[in-house]
Amino acid sequence: MSTPLNIDQLIKVKSVALHRVRIPLIEPFRISNGTVVEKDSILIEVTTSDGTTGWGEASPMSGSFYSSDTPDSSWCALSEKLIPWLLEFCNVAPHQFYERLREIPGDAFAKAGLDGALWDAYVVEQRVSLCEALGIGRRSVPSGVAIGIYHTVDELLDRIRRYVLQGYRRVKIKIEPGWDIDIVAAVREQFPNVRLMVDANAAYTIADKPIFRELDRYGLTMIEQPFAADAFEEAGELQRNLKTALCADESADSLVSLQRLIKHNAARVINIKVQRVGGLSEALLMLDAARAADLECWVGTMPELGVASAQGLHLAMHSGFSFPTDIEASSRWYVDDVIDPLIEIDESGFIHVPSGVGSGFNVSREKVEKYSVARELFIA
Ligand SMILES: [Mg+2]
Repeated sequence: MSTPLNIDQLIKVKSVALHRVRIPLIEPFRISNGTVVEKDSILIEVTTSDGTTGWGEASPMSGSFYSSDTPDSSWCALSEKLIPWLLEFCNVAPHQFYERLREIPGDAFAKAGLDGALWDAYVVEQRVSLCEALGIGRRSVPSGVAIGIYHTVDELLDRIRRYVLQGYRRVKIKIEPGWDIDIVAAVREQFPNVRLMVDANAAYTIADKPIFRELDRYGLTMIEQPFAADAFEEAGELQRNLKTALCADESADSLVSLQRLIKHNAARVINIKVQRVGGLSEALLMLDAARAADLECWVGTMPELGVASAQGLHLAMHSGFSFPTDIEASSRWYVDDVIDPLIEIDESGFIHVPSGVGSGFNVSREKVEKYSVARELFIA
């Protein structure tokens, strides 16, 4: 078990501010079920009785093509339900609050944001780093790049070349029906030695098994989420017929889903996204359960802005994660970010997480103001 440290202190939350920010993407990101052009995110600022500020981020994709959670639904859940409820507590510790939070169904992204803000306020008040409080040792985090779907193969190959040269330690490409076998063959021909994986974002059914049998020939590190989130039996059947590991993403949205997945042998790898599972506490529970079942894990992203990415990096420092994270340099996705320093990768594809209290990254109020499109304040 991952045992959090320094968790006996309680904090009193005096106010919570929600900031909705929008930051343009450097280029549109297209996956099998939609396209986004800007990052629409909710930053959650918790202030405690001693004046400490903690930041979290609720970061579902715009629209509802990845999950039913959207920025609008998360804002609503936070402002109408979760924040008023938090403010009723006299004193809280994040892990205890989360035990209560996880009893409420749904709104994983809103919960993840509030959980992240509480953890941040908590560790800043105690003058420790987030990883230390979570019982996670420090290491440099290997980073992999995720690349969307393009109009032409040449565009895709150009992006892969660019990011491999920057140092990213594996390449994930998105696939969809009609953009799969030929694309993987073309990428493999140009990049025979790169660690390559594909992500279908649930775009196929078991009738497409021959496509995956074909993809099995290309030495892929894994195939992520071939089928719908609840198609555990079908994924189990496909996994029995492939050498390549299947990775669960949309299917692994909670500890309960993970247990179903294990029962059906529906994957050998789990992509743990703090946002999708409802927070750092749930992510750690899932890591423990997955490892106990001999599943390998890695930390994915939506992707998020710097606040949630920085917290994800603290989780990704856990030695139990055995593949590069999807958390990338801030400049990979966004024209700007709200943290200082920005997240960067070195020439070998590693991210070095700054030491210091909290996440080691500061939130820039100036940037939050600049990109803010809505805000709301709640006082205890
Ligand atoms: Mg995925």
